[in-house]
Amino acid sequence: MTSLKGRLFVAAAVLCLLAPYARALQRGDERNALKSYYTAEYLAFKKRIMAEFVKTGPGKFGEFVKRSKAGKDKGGDKNQKVIAFTFDACGGSHSGYNEKLIAYLRREQIPATLFVTGLWIEQNKAVFAELAKDPLFEIENHGLLHRLCSTEGRMMYGVHATRDLGDVIDEMELCARKIAELTGRRPLFFRSATAYTDELSLKVAARLGMEVVSYDILSGDATKASAKTISGNILKGARHGAVVIMHFNHPEWPDLEAMELVVPELRKRGYNFMKLEDFSVKP
Ligand SMILES: [Zn+2]
Repeated sequence: MTSLKGRLFVAAAVLCLLAPYARALQRGDERNALKSYYTAEYLAFKKRIMAEFVKTGPGKFGEFVKRSKAGKDKGGDKNQKVIAFTFDACGGSHSGYNEKLIAYLRREQIPATLFVTGLWIEQNKAVFAELAKDPLFEIENHGLLHRLCSTEGRMMYGVHATRDLGDVIDEMELCARKIAELTGRRPLFFRSATAYTDELSLKVAARLGMEVVSYDILSGDATKASAKTISGNILKGARHGAVVIMHFNHPEWPDLEAMELVVPELRKRGYNFMKLEDFSVKP
């Protein structure tokens, strides 16, 4: 007679054997989900955009476009000091949710801009819907599949890049459409995976009605830095109009602890916090 232990062992072995099939099935589902984005209307739209840029070279590659125009654009109070906290959610194998960080932002009433990928949305549907409903947060575009946007396939930090112009359009436009469909608001800003892009991608984003934004202050949360180091980086870079880059998809990173150190100090120095959309130049 097989013992309970023996039966459990057999069951575990069967599950291990089936795991690759389960993963393949999941990948198949993802591929099918992706297929649904490529409607005839979208493909015709993409073809038109590609034709417009067919003769434009990739240009320089780097981390472009910082937004440091807070207040000035609106002709507001010259003495005001504003900082924008932005948090990315990358997705794929990085699809966690730092619930405590978001709770802190709510408790402290800190407006924040959240850059999300299509992948992260798929894996956090209920949370995404709840964040999108909260006026404290602005949902922006971090790309459909978290690919670095380079029209010639350049990579950084080992993050997969788009292969060509067509992929860049997919990455930007399909995620923008997804966010618009779910929230009723089309994103205004795009941040490429790793924040690197080429100049042609900036032009494509502008054509699609989005502005590429990188950052002024690299918090360093992605480098396994301590809360003290992260808060030190932010305080060192703090100035009016600065955009801070952090993440809210890694609950194991000390972003919350860094915010607890940095926010009281910034408030003491007279800073307020603003979403990127409130930095925007209104015509
Ligand atoms: Zn990312």
